[in-house]
Amino acid sequence: MHNAAFAAAGIDGRYELLELDEAEVAGAVAAARGPDFLGLGVTAPYKPLVASLVDEVEGDAQTIGAVNNVVRTDDGRLIGFNTDAPGFQAGVELAMGHPLAGATVVVAGAGGAAHAVVFGCLAAGARRVTIANRTAASGEALAARFRGVGSGSVSAVPLDGAEVVEALGSADLAVNATTIGMIDPGSAFNVELLPPAATVFDLVYVPAETPIVANARARGLRAANGSEMLIAQAALAFERWTGVGGMAGVMRAAVGPLLADATVRA
Ligand code: NAP
Repeated sequence: MHNAAFAAAGIDGRYELLELDEAEVAGAVAAARGPDFLGLGVTAPYKPLVASLVDEVEGDAQTIGAVNNVVRTDDGRLIGFNTDAPGFQAGVELAMGHPLAGATVVVAGAGGAAHAVVFGCLAAGARRVTIANRTAASGEALAARFRGVGSGSVSAVPLDGAEVVEALGSADLAVNATTIGMIDPGSAFNVELLPPAATVFDLVYVPAETPIVANARARGLRAANGSEMLIAQAALAFERWTGVGGMAGVMRAAVGPLLADATVRA
């Protein structure tokens, strides 16, 4: 995506993949202070670690507790920021066909991605967010972290049980922010419990049609995988690094065929 955007923008730049052990992360971040670098993209599990290695972490990334991109300033300072939350907002609003403001949302999961999702929902004005997680304590901690963001309410329930059934029954939007569907087979929640006007948004984008998306579509619900979130967060990062916006279309054209054929690598 990024290399297609560099080419389209006529910028002599390159996005490279570094596969690092944890002990190597600090060195890679330090190297990005050099004049050849525009910045860094960061993926799980190093988003919290990189937040501790940069010179400044922007407000939303501080609140979320994770940096998924770093931009290098002209004087070599590194600023950490987060595009997962606005990327989620852009992707999910496209899927829903209307804004998140006022929505009642159920989010399955309480890991790194769920942090950006729950923050993104509350910051966009969601009315109620219910976090449903397998490990109850992580769900509770996530709800506590974001209480007070926006004017909506946020609470946590176990992934299995009566409370999640009730929450799904009145949801406008159900989000899968677990790895279920990618690594583990199956669905994080039962789409049969959702109202007919609800939207299902799965952060997983490999395989292209995850079980939960297939089930939701079979029921006639609006449903989308996480590819538009992936593209939107990347386009936002590219704009911060280069000053060139509007690259989502170029990125979609580059990544679409790859995602359509992708399978999970063990
Ligand atoms: P993570 O930090 O490892 O969190 C994983 C979450 O999944 C935890 O809440 C975990 O619950 C839950 N989980 C895992 N296996 C489960 C199972 N068998 N049953 C029930 N719950 C299970 O992962 P992450 O970084 O948040 O990523 C989550 C997913 O989002 C991944 O598939 C990733 O590819 C995707 N993602 C997509 C985008 C995008 O742009 N579309 C961006 C970021 C992430 P416990 O707390 O109980 O362990």
